[in-house]
Amino acid sequence: MQRMAIIGGGITGITSAYALVKRGFDVTVFEKHRYAAMETSFANGGQLSASNAEVWNHWPTVIKGLRWMLKNDAPLLVNPRPTWHKLSWFAEFIAAIPRYADNTTETTRLAIAAREHLFQWARDEQIDFDVKQKGILHIYRDKAGYEHAAKVSQLLHKGGLERRAVTPEEMRAIEPTLAGSYYGGFFTESDATGDIHKYTNGLAMAAAKHGVKLNYGHQVTDLGADENSAWVSASIDGEEVRQSFDSVVVCAGVGSRAIAAKLGDRVNIYPVKGYSITVQLDDEASQQAAPTVSLLDDETKLVTSRLGNDRFRVAGTAEFNGANRDIRNDRIQPLVRWVEQCFPGVSTQRVVPWAGLRPMLPNMLPKVGPGKLPTVFYNTGHGHLGWTLSAITAEMLADEVDNSPATSLAMTR
Ligand SMILES: Cc1cc2nc3c(=O)[nH]c(=O)nc-3n(C[C@H](O)[C@H](O)[C@H](O)COP(=O)(O)OP(=O)(O)OC[C@H]3O[C@@H](n4cnc5c(N)ncnc54)[C@H](O)[C@@H]3O)c2cc1C
Repeated sequence: MQRMAIIGGGITGITSAYALVKRGFDVTVFEKHRYAAMETSFANGGQLSASNAEVWNHWPTVIKGLRWMLKNDAPLLVNPRPTWHKLSWFAEFIAAIPRYADNTTETTRLAIAAREHLFQWARDEQIDFDVKQKGILHIYRDKAGYEHAAKVSQLLHKGGLERRAVTPEEMRAIEPTLAGSYYGGFFTESDATGDIHKYTNGLAMAAAKHGVKLNYGHQVTDLGADENSAWVSASIDGEEVRQSFDSVVVCAGVGSRAIAAKLGDRVNIYPVKGYSITVQLDDEASQQAAPTVSLLDDETKLVTSRLGNDRFRVAGTAEFNGANRDIRNDRIQPLVRWVEQCFPGVSTQRVVPWAGLRPMLPNMLPKVGPGKLPTVFYNTGHGHLGWTLSAITAEMLADEVDNSPATSLAMTR
C-alpha cells in the first residue's frame, strides 16, 4: 500500500486525506495544532459559493482597490512597505488579468462540481455542520455595482451556474430581515453555507475511522523527497521524529510556500488577511431579526452565514500585510456597524472577532497536482474559496496520485 504524508490539517488537508484513504492509500496527516482546522479553516465566512467565483484579476477591481487604499475603513488594506514576496505576487496578479474571464468560469465549474462530494461525504459520515441550503443573495446599492454583477452572471452561467436578477421587492421576500434600500440583487438558489470548522473536524474523525493517522501536535520542521520516496521530520513536544513515505502532499495553507521551497518548487502563496465576527444571537428577538439566507454585499465585500439558530457570522476584508494575525479593532468595527445597519434588531453585545490568512495564489486558482518531483503533490492556494472548492480539489488530487508514476512504482515494490 502506498504511504502518503499530508502536511496540514485544515479543510484541504483533511479532504485530501479522506479522498485518498477512500481510494486505498495509507495516509498520515501532520498538523502542528492539537486539533484540525485551527488556522484559516476556523471561522471563515461559511459560504459554499459558486456565485462568488469571480477572480479579482480585473482592471476595474484593481482601480477600485487603489481608491480603497486611501480610505481607513475600506475592505482592502495594503501595507505599502515593499517586500520581494508582495511585489512578485502583485506582478503575477496583474499578469493574470488576461485570464480573468476564463479563470472565473473555471472556478465556477469547480465550485459546482465540489458540492456533490462535500454533501455526499457529510451524508455518508453523518457530519453535523450547521448546513443551510437556502441560497446566496448578492446585494447592490447602486446601478454600477449591479450592472457589473450582471456581466459576471454571464461568466458564471458559462461555468454552469444559474443566478437570477431580483428586484428590491423580491430581495425583501427572499430575506425579510434585511434593512436598507437597494438597487437590486442576484440570487443563487443552489448555493449554501455551513461551519467549516465543524465539517473539517467531523470529516477528520471519519477519516480516522477509515484508517488515516492524524498526527496532531506535530510541527513539520523539515522534509525532503527524491524520485522514489519522501521523508518528513516533525517536532512533537520538543522531540524530533523522522518518518519515510512514498509521497508527500502539501496542504499547509499559508505555510505551503516555505514548504514547497524545501521541495524544490515555487508556489507563490501570499497570506491575505481577512476578519470575521460571530454574533451570538442569545435572545429570541435577535434570532428573529437575523437573516437565514446568506448574503454577499459586493460594495463592502462582506459575506454572511447563519450557523444554527444562535450564531450569525459576517466576514470579509483583504489585508496585504504579511503573515500578521493581529485582530485590529479598527478592522472589526466596520463589520459590527454593518450588522447594526442591515439588521438593526440584532443585538451586538456579544461578538466574537477572528482573523485568518487566506492562502492566495496570484491567479486565484489553487495548485492541485504534482510538483517537480513525482513523489511531491500539492493541494493548496485556495484563497478566498477554500471551503467552496476543497472537496473537488481533493478528488482531483486523488486522481493525480492514482495515475502518477510514483503510485505505479510503489505498487511494484
Ligand atoms: C475572513 C475569511 C473569510 C472566508 N470566507 C470564505 C467563504 O465564505 N467561503 C469559502 O469558500 N472560503 C472562505 N475563506 C477561505 C477559506 O477559509 C480558506 O481558503 C481555507 O480555509 C484554506 O484552507 P487550508 O487547508 O488551505 O488552510 P488552513 O486551514 O490554514 O490549513 C493549513 C494547516 O496547515 C498547518 N500547517 C502549516 N504548516 C505546518 C507545519 N510546518 N507543520 C504542521 N502543520 C502545518 C496549519 O496549522 C493549518 O492547520 C475565507 C477566508 C477568510 C480569512
